[in-house]
Amino acid sequence: AFDVLVVGGGPAGAAAAVYAARKGIRTGIAAERFGGQVNDTLAIENYISVLETDGPKFATSLEAHVKAYGVDVMNLQRGDKLIPAAAPGGLIEVQLANGGSLKSKTVILSTGARWRNVNVPGEQQYKNKGVAYCPHCDGPLFKGKRVAVIGGGNSGVEAAIDLAGIVTHVTLIEFGDALRADAVLVTKLKSLANVTIHTNAQTTELTGDGTKLNGLTYTDRISGESRHIELEGVFVQIGLVPNTEWLKGVVELSKHGEIIVDARGQTSVPGVFAAGDATTVPFKQIIIAAGDGAKAALGAFDHLMRN
Ligand code: FAD
Repeated sequence: AFDVLVVGGGPAGAAAAVYAARKGIRTGIAAERFGGQVNDTLAIENYISVLETDGPKFATSLEAHVKAYGVDVMNLQRGDKLIPAAAPGGLIEVQLANGGSLKSKTVILSTGARWRNVNVPGEQQYKNKGVAYCPHCDGPLFKGKRVAVIGGGNSGVEAAIDLAGIVTHVTLIEFGDALRADAVLVTKLKSLANVTIHTNAQTTELTGDGTKLNGLTYTDRISGESRHIELEGVFVQIGLVPNTEWLKGVVELSKHGEIIVDARGQTSVPGVFAAGDATTVPFKQIIIAAGDGAKAALGAFDHLMRN
């Protein structure tokens, strides 16, 4: 059995594994795809001390750092079920999709999240070629260009306000008949000169020239007309889905499916900690996930010392 078993191999899980292993305790990490969302990231320019890198390079360094400490790395393993310890201080079990089972005194859940897709033609083809999901990450790439934001909830309206300060023009596309963001954000958005808002607009296609995005087509749901906007970037902001479906009913989750953690990363289940995008910790970023993973590992170590 492990002392610390990390489930998830993104920045949060990798940091947790390094911090745990540096305490000299038996540490394992099981991940469906080592590196996590970072694998899908083109340029990373906001991980402090690293001026610029790319996603696959960053993912390779994460794995190398973890392996340098002799952590038992189990890649391509998906956690399917978490079984809390039968008695306080007992072993926690993680059952894997392949039928295997791992046991540990403490578990750190760091299964991350995924952006909800609009699922229209062009989205997959132009991902990272104009189609983006993270304004904090990719906003500066569109300086001086025209972009659209799909989604009129809080994240979409926040993204549009943020981007309006960087790009030439922002078009906000909302499917419903009104923006659903907080009133203060909507007021702020409407005060900006370089923003156009379309409600009752259903995105039907993200168009491109074969190599990069060049526009967005939507249907005006009132008139039924199809319209096309020329632009260089589209930010899809219709929600982030935590990879926590497998924990439902076992670990306490928020109404958005995020694992509820305290300031030490402790979940509702004794000995089970969590970190990163899968949790209620606000602002989903690499540096935040990594710091959070370190914190959860120290929380788990503290728990081991006391039990
Ligand atoms: P993730 O990176 O999501 O990792 C989750 C891990 O858990 C993966 O290994 C996954 O395979 C595994 N997993 C999931 N479910 C299971 C399961 N059931 N069992 C086992 N393993 C499982 N942030 C920045 O700071 N800067 C950027 O420039 C930036 N650009 C981005 C660009 C894109 C396109 C995307 C999608 C995100 C970007 N982000 C960026 C956000 C950043 O990638 C995330 O905040 C960060 O990766 C979160 O780390 P994490 O470890 O919590 O989760």
